[in-house]
Amino acid sequence: MDFTLDAKQQELVNLAKEIAQKEIAPRALDIDKSGVMDPELLKILKQSGMTQLAVPKEYGGAGLDLLTGAMISEELAKGCAGTATVCAANSLASFPILFAGSDEQKKEYFDCLNNGGIACFALTEPGAGSDAGAVSCKAKKVDGGYVLNGTKCFITNAPICDKITLFANTRESGGIRGLTVFTVDRNTPGVSIGKEEDKMGIRASATSEIIFDDCFVPTSARIGREGMGFRIAMQTLETSRPVVGAISVGIAQAALENAIHYAHQRKQFGQKIASFEMVQEMIANMVTKTEAARALVYKACWLKMQGDKRASMFSAMSKCFASDTAMEVTTTAVQVMGGNGYSRENPNEKYMRDAKIMQIYEGTNQVQRLVIANEALY
Ligand SMILES: Cc1cc2nc3c(=O)[nH]c(=O)nc-3n(C[C@H](O)[C@H](O)[C@H](O)COP(=O)(O)OP(=O)(O)OC[C@H]3O[C@@H](n4cnc5c(N)ncnc54)[C@H](O)[C@@H]3O)c2cc1C
Repeated sequence: MDFTLDAKQQELVNLAKEIAQKEIAPRALDIDKSGVMDPELLKILKQSGMTQLAVPKEYGGAGLDLLTGAMISEELAKGCAGTATVCAANSLASFPILFAGSDEQKKEYFDCLNNGGIACFALTEPGAGSDAGAVSCKAKKVDGGYVLNGTKCFITNAPICDKITLFANTRESGGIRGLTVFTVDRNTPGVSIGKEEDKMGIRASATSEIIFDDCFVPTSARIGREGMGFRIAMQTLETSRPVVGAISVGIAQAALENAIHYAHQRKQFGQKIASFEMVQEMIANMVTKTEAARALVYKACWLKMQGDKRASMFSAMSKCFASDTAMEVTTTAVQVMGGNGYSRENPNEKYMRDAKIMQIYEGTNQVQRLVIANEALY
């Protein structure tokens, strides 16, 4: 396995690091408190290409591979996981277009992203979470296109989106075989944004319902064939799960660095708490697990890039292990800082709240374990 980056790739990772340190981290606590993304920061992310990480070279993008994209996501997440999620959700929404869109569809879609467009991936519904096959949003075939009806919920970026990558069912009876992907412009008549979630963490990223009410889209809005949606969704999630792993590693790394810094400053019983063996044990476990999570994320990306058949299992393992690690490391980081760790004056309690969603979205960690066990056993 070779994780070496070329000069261009390294330059982009360095740029993400610089943006995270200079632009994201200083704003992170304020954005977390207000729950509203800073428009100036969003502009910086768009102008620096951070919202276009999945755009291929032939459509005007940087043409990044999955590993470089993951490394960039880790850097952004060190500054703020919610902000990294805004960018990662643009990639998540792009993958179905990338995998199954026509040349014209790609051109139109990626032009929008290159011009600062924001996209969202709309699969989840009130009655269809882990069970993606239960999608009830309907796409009824009519003359020249489809009429969409239904409600999506918990959709990242929906309140600020320009493009929606929608999963709807073309079969009256529903089921996996009717699941079909559409690319829908936010301003299409019949599309409205519903209730916005007031979330525990990743508060820089806006999450809401999207309602489709007799919304007509032309046949040219369909991505791939009718019934291909489930396969496209699984292919998309398999590709994006290591990115969730990378964001988790970024959160863990930030919490770890904060805890180490504190352990060197804080004195009790006349000495720095870093000299206590039980504090050292906490730090040692945090460092080890964070490094192990990063290694698994890199390997999952690398296998996916090689088209290796183990990619699906490693993708699930990387998301599952890295997010469990982020939860554990951030909780321990609060412990290292004692009462100060529990205060909203410093970022460790935010890291802990941000880490929790990594175990839930893009398939809960229970679902990841089902994938892993299935691959390992059969
Ligand atoms: C902040 C946030 C952002 C999100 N962004 C998006 C987005 O951009 N696009 C999108 O489409 N969705 C998004 N989601 C939805 C997310 O992917 C789902 O919440 C997630 O897949 C779980 O579905 P659910 O909430 O319906 O939980 P449920 O499926 O109801 O699960 C509840 C519990 O049951 C367990 N469970 C369910 N089925 C099984 C099983 N077969 N075996 C064992 N345990 C099981 C789960 O692990 C969980 O613990 C987002 C969610 C949140 C909270």
